[in-house]
Amino acid sequence: MHVTVIGAGIVGACTALELLRDGHEVTIIEAGEPGGRQAASYGHGCWISPASVVPMSMPGLWKQVPGYLLNPHGPLVIRWQHSVRLLPWLVRFLLAGSSLPRVERTAKALSSLLKDSPERHMALAESIGQPELIKREGLLYAYPERADFEREKLAWHLRRLTGLVWRELDEKSLRAREPALSDHYRFGVLAEAGAHCIDPGRYVSALVQEAVTRGARLIKARALGFAMSGDRLIAVRTDQGEIACDRAVITAGVWSKVLARMAGDRIPLESERGYHGVIGAEVSGPAHPVMPSDGKMANTPTAQGLRLSGQVELASVETPPNWKRVDILLDHAAKTYSGLANRQDMPVDRWMGHRPSTPDGKPVIGTASSLRDVIHAFGHGHVGFASGPITGRLAADLVSGKPPERDLSPFSPQRFR
Ligand SMILES: Cc1cc2nc3c(=O)[nH]c(=O)nc-3n(C[C@H](O)[C@H](O)[C@H](O)COP(=O)(O)OP(=O)(O)OC[C@H]3O[C@@H](n4cnc5c(N)ncnc54)[C@H](O)[C@@H]3O)c2cc1C
Repeated sequence: MHVTVIGAGIVGACTALELLRDGHEVTIIEAGEPGGRQAASYGHGCWISPASVVPMSMPGLWKQVPGYLLNPHGPLVIRWQHSVRLLPWLVRFLLAGSSLPRVERTAKALSSLLKDSPERHMALAESIGQPELIKREGLLYAYPERADFEREKLAWHLRRLTGLVWRELDEKSLRAREPALSDHYRFGVLAEAGAHCIDPGRYVSALVQEAVTRGARLIKARALGFAMSGDRLIAVRTDQGEIACDRAVITAGVWSKVLARMAGDRIPLESERGYHGVIGAEVSGPAHPVMPSDGKMANTPTAQGLRLSGQVELASVETPPNWKRVDILLDHAAKTYSGLANRQDMPVDRWMGHRPSTPDGKPVIGTASSLRDVIHAFGHGHVGFASGPITGRLAADLVSGKPPERDLSPFSPQRFR
C-alpha cells in the first residue's frame, strides 16, 4: 500500500521506518524540518525511561490546583486566562488520577510502551549507523533526604508494580556517581536500565533521512485534511496539493487534534508546554542524567551542552513563550550543582515546545472512527520520545493488518466518547 505519514517528529520517523520494513510505499509530509525546533521531539529532556510510568494526575492533586493558578513560579502552571477553555480537559485530567486503581491501570498501560524503550532506541540508532546517539548509563533521581524519597511512595509503588528495578544510593555512593551535585542532595535512586539521547534533533533528522534512503518520499507541506472516494481514502490534502495514498497515519504531535477530528474523533488533546535551557559552555555539571526531586526537571548532558528541561505550563499552542520559565530552570540548576552558581555569562539556548497531552496521560493509537484508512498515533504527553519506536511498530501493525505487538485497548481513540 501507499501510506502517508503526517508529521516527522520521533513518532512519524519511527512509523515511516516500520512501514517501509513491512514493504509499503511511504510518503512523509512534514510542515517544518524533520526533528526541527517546532517539534517536541527536538527539545525534550532526552530521557528514555522505563520509570516514566507515573501519570501527572495522581490522587490528591486537585487540592493543589488553586496553588497552580496562583503561583507563576511552580513546576506546574495554569495560565489563568486559559483556565475556562481548559476546564473540561482539567476535569478529565483530575478524574484520571482520582484513585489508586486508576493510576495503577495507567502505569501498566504506559509500561507496555516503555519497558523495552532503551533496547528499542539502541537498536534503532545502531540500524542507522549512529549508535553513539543513545547512551545507556542509567537515570538518577536525586533527593535532599531519604525522607523525601519516602514521601513519593505512591510513585515508586507504581514503578515497582510495573517491574522497575532500582538501586538506592546513600550520600557517599551518590557523591561518587555525581561529584558535581551540591551538598543539598544526600540520597539517590538509580534506575540502571534507563538510557538517554545526546542529540534528539539530529537523531530524528537522521531517522527520516534513513527512511528516505530506504525509499520514502519526504514532502515539505502542511496536511489539511483527507480526500475520499466513498468510504475509502484516496489522498491527503495539503497546502501543496493532494498526495494520493491508500492509508494515512496521523503523527503530528499536538497538531493532530484537528486532523483527528476530520477522521471522526474528538480527542481532548492539549499542549502541556515545556521549556529547556541548554548551557552551551563547559560547566561542571552532572556526568550522567539527573532529576533533582525538588526541581522536577531533567538535567541531561548532551552534544550541545547541559540541557535543563521541564516545567508544565497549561496554555494554548499559540500563546507566546514565557522565557522566565527557563530562568526558573537555570536558578534551580545553580542550586543543584555548586559549579553552576555563577552562570551569568554562560550562553543559554532557550526553547519552548508542546507535549501533546491527553487528560488520561495515555497516547491515542488506533484506527479512526469514521475513516477506517486513517490511523492515529499521537498524544504521548511526557513519554513520546521514549515510546516512539514501539508506537511506530504498533501503527505499522494496524496499517498492515498484523496482530499488534501490544494490547491497544488502553490507547483506543474511542475511549473519550
Ligand atoms: C520540556 C519537555 C521535556 C520532555 N522530556 C521527555 C523525555 O525526557 N522523554 C520522553 O520520552 N519524552 C519527553 N517529552 C515528550 C516528548 O517530547 C513528546 O511526547 C514527543 O516528542 C512527541 O513526539 P511526536 O512525534 O508525537 O510530536 P512532535 O515531535 O511535536 O512532531 C510533530 C511533527 O508534526 C509536524 N506537523 C504538525 N502538523 C502538521 C501538518 N498538519 N502537516 C505536516 N506536518 C505537521 C510538526 O512540524 C512536527 O515536526 C518532553 C516534552 C517536553 C516539551
